[in-house]
Amino acid sequence: MNTFMSLRSYGANAEKGNKAAEEEILRIEKLISATDPDSTVYKINNSDNEVTLQEDLVFLLNYSIDRCFETDFAFNTFLYPVTKRWGFTTGNYTVPAAQEISELLPLCNWEEGKDQLNKLSSGKAIDFGAVGKGFAGDKAIEVLKQNGVTSALLDLGGNIQLLGSKPDGTDFKIGLKNPRGGEVPVAISLSDCAVITSGGYERYFTADDGNSYIHIFDGRTGYPVKTNILSTTIISKKGLEGDFLSTASFILGKEWLTDYWNSHNRSFDFVILYEDNSITYSQGLTGRINLLQEFSWTEVIN
Ligand code: ADP
Ligand code: MG
Repeated sequence: MNTFMSLRSYGANAEKGNKAAEEEILRIEKLISATDPDSTVYKINNSDNEVTLQEDLVFLLNYSIDRCFETDFAFNTFLYPVTKRWGFTTGNYTVPAAQEISELLPLCNWEEGKDQLNKLSSGKAIDFGAVGKGFAGDKAIEVLKQNGVTSALLDLGGNIQLLGSKPDGTDFKIGLKNPRGGEVPVAISLSDCAVITSGGYERYFTADDGNSYIHIFDGRTGYPVKTNILSTTIISKKGLEGDFLSTASFILGKEWLTDYWNSHNRSFDFVILYEDNSITYSQGLTGRINLLQEFSWTEVIN
């Protein structure tokens, strides 16, 4: 997953469960990594042959395609040709000419039928960077359950996924990362859910033009997102949904997220931190959320 992992399970089955869950995460990585030459996605991206797709990959691809259409491709699983040109896959960063970006963008559309998932047109490529960790986390939690684990905390590259509550029956206390570095600004008491954050503060580069460019793009334009949002955090039942929503809401903003929340039965919660030191959170967190610093403005969405 190109990232760190820490898994803390409790109870008699912890050791057995951890081992199986770690294997599961490695198995998923072998399906979805865009950079591992042995992975299925790498083969889809780098060969013109038909590739046999595993069931989990078919599921994730279908889910992602639906989310692309749901966001008019602001969230875009097929943006890899563009993000690669910017250097986000290699670390050789550059700001491409506008002309180049508009030439690459047509490669980032999905026009194939869903019955053609294993035959991506030449030049196109899949990137599960925005949802892969959440999906792998869900699979790992499932495996822990199958192994009789009832209490665990998984940290997969900053994505937190909780199984049950703490062994003593109380909630886990989860601190949100401070996008500016320093003290934890917000803590939330939670159990049995995923806590997933997107922000522009960890992976970005500063170009010769003096501007900073982050690793989250607007899939419609091919440019890194410019926003007054420092981070968006989603608290949801499933890691996959949280991972999608944290990235999508970082791109599309508070109004979009609030509409989505209302049209999806308010079945998740969210926290948004802004550059002007204000905070927005959804009402489901009332009584669970602890603000550990002074905010310039606090807005609760009802
Ligand atoms: P992180 O990986 O830092 O935890 P995200 O879940 O927000 O954060 O995913 C960011 C990754 O998603 C990028 O590194 C890139 O691989 C991919 N990505 C960037 N822009 C988009 C987009 N518009 N739609 C889908 N995936 C994207
Ligand atoms: Mg994400």
